[in-house]
Amino acid sequence: MARQWESVIGLEVHLQLKTGTKVWCGCDANYDNSEVNTHTCPICLGHPGALPKLNKKVVEYAIKGALALNCKINNISGFDRKNYFYPDTPKNYQITQFETPYCENGHLDVKLNSGREFRVGITRIQIEEDAGKSIHMGTESLINFNRASMPLVEIISDPDLRSSEEAYEYLNLLKSTIKYTGISDVSMELGSLRCDANISVMEKGSKVYGTRVEVKNLNSFKAVARAIDYEIGRQIEAIENGEIINQETRLWDDDSQVTRIMRSKEDAMDYRYFPEPDLPRLVIKNEEIERIKALMPESKSEKLARFIKDYTLPEYDANILTDEIELADYFEKVVEFTKNPKLSSNWIMTEVLRELKESGKTIEESNITSEDLGKIINLIQKDVISSKIAKQLFIKKLTDIRDPEVIVKEDGMVQVVDLGEIEGIVKQVLNENPKMVEDFKNSDEGRKPRVLKGLIGQVMKLSKGKANPTIVTELMESKLK
Ligand SMILES: [Zn+2]
Repeated sequence: MARQWESVIGLEVHLQLKTGTKVWCGCDANYDNSEVNTHTCPICLGHPGALPKLNKKVVEYAIKGALALNCKINNISGFDRKNYFYPDTPKNYQITQFETPYCENGHLDVKLNSGREFRVGITRIQIEEDAGKSIHMGTESLINFNRASMPLVEIISDPDLRSSEEAYEYLNLLKSTIKYTGISDVSMELGSLRCDANISVMEKGSKVYGTRVEVKNLNSFKAVARAIDYEIGRQIEAIENGEIINQETRLWDDDSQVTRIMRSKEDAMDYRYFPEPDLPRLVIKNEEIERIKALMPESKSEKLARFIKDYTLPEYDANILTDEIELADYFEKVVEFTKNPKLSSNWIMTEVLRELKESGKTIEESNITSEDLGKIINLIQKDVISSKIAKQLFIKKLTDIRDPEVIVKEDGMVQVVDLGEIEGIVKQVLNENPKMVEDFKNSDEGRKPRVLKGLIGQVMKLSKGKANPTIVTELMESKLK
C-alpha cells in the first residue's frame, strides 16, 4: 500500500500598523508617494548614540490586534536585539520581542467553504520594527530608509494548518478580522501584510513532525496556497525517493511556480539575541487593556448580529455583507439613502458583487458609489423606473459620470405610467398579433397565463422596457376579456 502523508503548516504574518508615526521616533509613517529618504531622522537611520522611544500608539494598536485575535496579553514583556548585518538595517540589529512577547495563546476559528470549522492557535504576536527597502538596479543597490522603523506586529500561528485551503482561509479571516480593528491596511499589494510559511510533511497519524522548510517571497494569498501545494508535493516525492528533507529557507518563484533554495541550515544566521538595553521593559496594566477594549470598534460578529437585528436581514445576507468591513460600510450608506435594507441588500448581493467580480475591483474602487446605488434604488421605489430599467441604468452608470437621476431624465429612461400611452401600445400589439389573441381565446386555463405573458412581453419590447409592467398586465387582461 502507498504511504499516506499529512502536511503541517504554520504561518508567520507581518502587519504594518498605520499609526501615522514610526515605532521609535516621530517620523511620518505615511511615506508611500514621498521622495526617498525624506521620512528619516538619526533614530530610524540608526546613528550611533540615538536612542529609541516607544510610540504609545503602537502599543495601543498592537493591543487591539491581540484582543481581536483572542490573545492573552502579558503585563510585562520586553524588547530584544536580533543581530545581523544587512545594508537595509544600518544599526546591524532589529529591535523585536524574543524572550517575552507582549501577547500569546490566541486563536481564530476558521470556517471552510464546505462548512467545516477548525481552530488555528496563535502562538504569539511580537512588536518589532521594519527594515529599510533595498532597490537593486543592475550592478547597483540603492536603499530607501522611509520604511526603516515602521511599526510591525509579527503574528505567529501554531502549526495547526493541514492544507493550502486551510492556510488560504485562515489568511482571509485574519485579514478581515484585523481590517475590522482599523490598525492596519492589511494589504499584500501595498506591502502592509507579508507572509512566510513553514511547511513539513509526516506519515499520516504520526506524532512527530517532519523537518520544516520555510518559504519566503510570497506575494499573494494565492501564491501562499500554491507554494504550500508545491512544497508538500516536493517533500513527499523526496522522502519517497529516500532523500532527507533539510531544514532550509526557500523562495517562491511566482513566474515558474516553484520554490528554490535560498539558504540551508548551515548558512542560518546566529542572531545572538539579547535584551535591548536602550528600552525599558514594556508594562501593560490591566486598566490599560480595559481602556483599549472600550475603544475597540465593532467586530465582525457584533456587526453581523446587528445587521440581522436592526435591518431584519436574513443571516445569509448579513454574512455576505459583513464579510469585509468596506462592503458593510457601503451597505449602511446605501440604506441611509433608501431606508430599505432588504432591497439595498438584494442589489448589492447581485448587481454590485457581480460587477466587482467581473471588473476585479474592490468596493472602494467601484464606479457605483453608495450614493449612486441609493439613487438608482430610490428611482425604483418612486416608480420612476422599473427594476428592469434600473439594471440597464446600473450598467450605464459604470461608464457614465452623470448622476443617475440626470441619466434617466436626459436619456429618456423614465418609466411610462400614462394610461393612454400604454393602452395605445397594448392595442397595437393586439392588432398586430391576431394569432396570439386567437390562441389565448382557445386555450384552457392552464395555458392562458403563458400566452398572456407572451403578449405582455411584446408590449414591453415595443415600449423598450419602459411601460409600467403592473399597468400593462392589468390593461392586457381586461382587453382580452
Ligand atoms: Zn525617524
